[in-house]
Amino acid sequence: MKNRIISVISLFFVSIYATFAQSDVRVKNIILMIGDGMGVAQVYAAYTVNKGKLNLEKAQYIGFSKTSSANSYITDSGAGGTAISIGRKTNNGCIGVDSDSVSLKTILEIAEENELSTGLLATSAITHATPASFVAHQISRYDTLEIAYDFIGSGIDIFIGGGRNHFERRIDSANISDSLRKEGYSIVYDLASIKAKDKNNIGCLVADKHLLPVLNGRGDFLPDATSLSLSRLSKNKKGFFVMIEGSQIDWAGHSNHISYLVSEMIDFDKAVGVAFDFADKNPGTLVVVTADHETGGLSLVDGDIHSGKLSSTFGTTDHTGVMVPVFAYGAGAEEFKGIYENTELFFKMMRLYGFKP
Ligand code: MG
Ligand code: ZN
Repeated sequence: MKNRIISVISLFFVSIYATFAQSDVRVKNIILMIGDGMGVAQVYAAYTVNKGKLNLEKAQYIGFSKTSSANSYITDSGAGGTAISIGRKTNNGCIGVDSDSVSLKTILEIAEENELSTGLLATSAITHATPASFVAHQISRYDTLEIAYDFIGSGIDIFIGGGRNHFERRIDSANISDSLRKEGYSIVYDLASIKAKDKNNIGCLVADKHLLPVLNGRGDFLPDATSLSLSRLSKNKKGFFVMIEGSQIDWAGHSNHISYLVSEMIDFDKAVGVAFDFADKNPGTLVVVTADHETGGLSLVDGDIHSGKLSSTFGTTDHTGVMVPVFAYGAGAEEFKGIYENTELFFKMMRLYGFKP
């Protein structure tokens, strides 16, 4: 009898412990990676040409995100990025505002308010639709001069990408880089100038407009910038939020250029590898890799994993309406399984941080 009571009591404590442990996923750091235009075919194209190897395959939980915007079956990158950044469907072309043009706080801004460190990395201009969706509030994605203004006062700790012309060589002759320097930023123009010891917030504008494609010599910029920014952001004990974009997967899809597409995908996957390694070494880190939409209606019609040979066709030069994959790794990754609207990505990240929307 006594033994039975003891075993019932211990069972009780074991189940309490299990319940507690399950709900106690504490996510400190979120690395959100957006492959612009990356559908399942884009991933498998890279897998094929890379002869059966991708870091993405280590992902622990997989989901699908439905990407339609408030006013269209086919989203653009403004509405696609904004759905993820503010948790609301908006009209195509909008940046950080809902379909009534009301500005809502982005997950990056909410992280900033909660004293986390924040960052944005892209292989396009940093003012381009996807990164802009996390820091700016504009009715039109094409208003890049206003989008650059929105970096002032954002508190963002590190941003790396192109778009120097939108900060410094503007038709209104404003100099956003100088304004940011007055806020205490270091503004530099190449990755090598990001010094480990520099405690300032940092903006790194590596191109006047967009960065070169990998095919034209961009090299390991994205994986290098990823590793550099993670080592800086992780100095904040409270945690961080960073959005890292493989911007040009989309452009390769628009131009129906398969070797451009595959090279951008493999580059993005290298950055994914850096993020997954960081998550392994830093408990409490979640990596979410997804897309805003698919581009090109890519179809793989033949291939060979051993030789890396691939035959493909495209169905369109525009975006398509198909669901896009969500790959999750690390703390809280299980939250991302299933099929859901792109807006859910925002709420899942908010819940895991313990933030109230
Ligand atoms: Mg983009
Ligand atoms: Zn596009």
